[in-house]
Amino acid sequence: MAKIKKLDKNVISKIAAGEVVAGPFSVVKELVENALDADAKKIEVELQNGGKSYIKVKDNGEGMSKDDLLLSVEEHTTSKIKDFEDIYTLYSFGFRGEALSSISKVSRVVITSNNGKESHRLEVIGGKIKKIEEFPTIERGTTVEVLDLFFNVPARRKFLKSAAVEKRRVIEFVEKFLLSNPEVSFTLKSDGDVLYNAESSSLEERFKLIFPEVREFTNINGKFVNGIISSPNYYRKNRTGQIFFVQKRYVVDKMLYYVFENGYGESLVNHPYGVLFIDLPPKYVDVNVHPQKLEVKFSDPNAIYSDIIRTVRNALKKFISKKIFVSDK
Ligand code: ADP
Ligand code: MG
Repeated sequence: MAKIKKLDKNVISKIAAGEVVAGPFSVVKELVENALDADAKKIEVELQNGGKSYIKVKDNGEGMSKDDLLLSVEEHTTSKIKDFEDIYTLYSFGFRGEALSSISKVSRVVITSNNGKESHRLEVIGGKIKKIEEFPTIERGTTVEVLDLFFNVPARRKFLKSAAVEKRRVIEFVEKFLLSNPEVSFTLKSDGDVLYNAESSSLEERFKLIFPEVREFTNINGKFVNGIISSPNYYRKNRTGQIFFVQKRYVVDKMLYYVFENGYGESLVNHPYGVLFIDLPPKYVDVNVHPQKLEVKFSDPNAIYSDIIRTVRNALKKFISKKIFVSDK
């Protein structure tokens, strides 16, 4: 008898869902990205028990029709690409069509959506559609509620950290969205506490909101990179104050940290603050990397790296001539 067996569909689908859904923070990330892709200008995030019991993301984006609502939770369904090559001209966050289906396979999901013409409520439990009904809502937009994450995958549920730790992870992701989308207003509530209530504003205002301790910072503006960096007088012992985005996607890349600090010179011992946006035409970036890995591939990395070093170095000259922003806090 052969030792190799084809896995059961149910097992395959739980494994696949686990690749996308790592915990409450990744649910929040996927849902906020969907809201941004739907052109929302106002996004509300709510958690209970660190997101382990309840996560809500409400947006005022374009909404979905009844048919789209039903399709949205199916596997590999997306409105964002048609052909593989489309990802090379892509400006949206999503394109895999995996998030809503994966999340709904491992939790109980309620989506209400109003597209300006019709308004419905969909209920999905463990990936199975239980109910769809008309549901009057006043405003256009979509609300996704995720209850009891991993209720049907006890092994995964056991690996969730304490509510406090999961909450911290969610806050860190929301802070990245606050920085990369300053024109969007965000609220973040956790167990009834308001953690953020940020009106639409500028990058400078959001930088001050997230890093109130930094009193000397300046804008930078290069060929591929722009953002805000601190003077070398403000730093952390780790790199949590250094945040990089490529086409507004948060990325983690050792080389980017390294070249950023290189711009401050050889003698640097601590880690200054920097929120850097790298923007280049989509065809020069490969976004087809795993959603959880936060990696990025540039077609010409050296051009990017040298632009960062040059731009940071030039901007730092301002600190010597004292032409800096000084926060009023
Ligand atoms: P992807 O974002 O990769 O397309 P998702 O599973 O995250 O895949 O979402 C599936 C589809 O559902 C999206 O392509 C979009 O058309 C629709 N959708 C999801 N969330 C929203 C939302 N908040 N507002 C409007 N449409 C949405
Ligand atoms: Mg998505």
